[in-house]
Amino acid sequence: MKEIILVKVGEIALKGLNRKNFEDLLIKNIKRKIHKLGRFEVVASQSTIRITPLDDFIDMDETAQKLSKVFGVVAFSRACIAEKDIEKIKETAAEYLKPIFSENISFKVESKRSDKKFPYGSPEISKMVGGYLADTFPNVTVDVHDPDVTVTVEIRDFAAYVHASVEEGAGGLPVSCGGKAAILISGGIDSPVAAYMMARRGIELSAIHFASPPYTSERAEEKVRDLLEIVSDYSGKMNMYTVPFTKIQEEIQKNSPEELFTIIMRRLMMNIAQRIAKNIGCQALITGESLGQVASQTIGALACTDEAADMPVFRPLIGMDKKDIIDISKKINTFETSCLPYEDCCTVFTPRHPRTKPKIELVRKAQAAVDWEDMIREAVENVKITPIGEDN
Ligand code: ATP
Ligand code: MG
Repeated sequence: MKEIILVKVGEIALKGLNRKNFEDLLIKNIKRKIHKLGRFEVVASQSTIRITPLDDFIDMDETAQKLSKVFGVVAFSRACIAEKDIEKIKETAAEYLKPIFSENISFKVESKRSDKKFPYGSPEISKMVGGYLADTFPNVTVDVHDPDVTVTVEIRDFAAYVHASVEEGAGGLPVSCGGKAAILISGGIDSPVAAYMMARRGIELSAIHFASPPYTSERAEEKVRDLLEIVSDYSGKMNMYTVPFTKIQEEIQKNSPEELFTIIMRRLMMNIAQRIAKNIGCQALITGESLGQVASQTIGALACTDEAADMPVFRPLIGMDKKDIIDISKKINTFETSCLPYEDCCTVFTPRHPRTKPKIELVRKAQAAVDWEDMIREAVENVKITPIGEDN
C-alpha cells in the first residue's frame, strides 16, 4: 500500500508574502535531506507539504526519521492514499490501520473535507469510516473524548488521505531563511547547543574553532569535528575554520596581568572570529555563553568581550540554566561527545583569580601593551578549513 508523508509547516512564517519563499526553501531542504533514500515528489498543496515516494524500495521509517530533523517542520503524519470513493476509503483505512487496530485500543475518526464536491460532509465521513472500522475490528472501542488513536480522513483535491498518528517535527524555521552566522565552537556542552538553537531559527552556520597545539591535542579538535557532525544533521553542511591560536595565547600569558588573561583572550577571539566571519559572508557571531556561568560570562565581562566585535553577537543560552542546556544537548545527542575529557584553549592558561568585574579601561590598556595586528592577521591567514556534514 502506498504511503506518503504530510508535513505541517510553521505558522508564523506562513503569513503574508513570505509564505511562498518559506515553502520553497523548506521543500528544498526536505529534498536535500532525503534524496539519498530514493526519488520523491515533494510539493506544497493546500497549506501542507506532501512527500510522495516514487521508488518502491524507499524505506519510509528512515524517511520519517530524517524528516524529524528538518527545521520548519512543526509536525508530520504518515498517511495512506485512497481513491475518493467512500467504500474505497473505508477499505483502505481498514487495511492501512490493521497493525494498530489489532490491539485493544479506543479510537475516534475525524474528517476534513477540503474538496467540497465530495458527496458527504465531514461528520458523515467520520461516522461511516468509524462504523466500518468498529465492525471490522471487534476488539476496538469508540471513544470520542479521550481516544488512544485519532484517525484522520482528509478529502483533498486529487485523493483522500488516511492517517492515525502525528509525529512532532523539529520546529523552528527552515535553515538559511535567517541569513548566515558563525558559531564559536569549543568542545564543551554549551556551544553545540547554541549552534543548534540558532540553526533552528533559520541560520545557516559556519563554525570557528580556536586551537592551541601542543597545549590542545589533535584529539580535542577531532572532538569538535564530531560535535559539528552531529549538529549538521539538523543544520546541514558547513565549514569548520580552525584558527591557530598558540602564539597569541603565549603572548597574552607573557605580557598581560594574570587576572585579565581570559578577558583579553576572549576579546582577541572575537576580533579574529569577526574578521573570518566577514570574509565568509556571515552577518553575526554566535557563542554558547550563559550569564554568570563563569567569570568571563558576567555582565561586565561580556561588555568587555562585546566591545571587540561590531557585528551582532547572538548568545541563545544567555538566560538558561545549565540543566536546561544539558537537556537539549541530550536531546540532540551531543552530550556524550561533549563530556569526553579533552582540553580546550580556554582552559589551558586559566588565571587563578579571574576578574569578574573587569574595568574596561584597564582591559583596553593591558591589551594595548602588545601590538596584536600582525599576529591576528597571521592567525586569520592560516585558518584551516574542514568541510562538515557531507552526508547531510
Ligand atoms: P562550552 O560548553 O561551549 O565550551 P563553557 O561553559 O565551557 O562553554 P567557555 O569555555 O567560557 O564556556 O566558553 C564560552 C564560549 O566561548 C563557548 O560557548 C564558545 O562559544 C566560545 N569558545 C570557548 N572556547 C572556544 C574555542 N576553543 N574555540 C571557539 N570558541 C570557543
Ligand atoms: Mg568551553
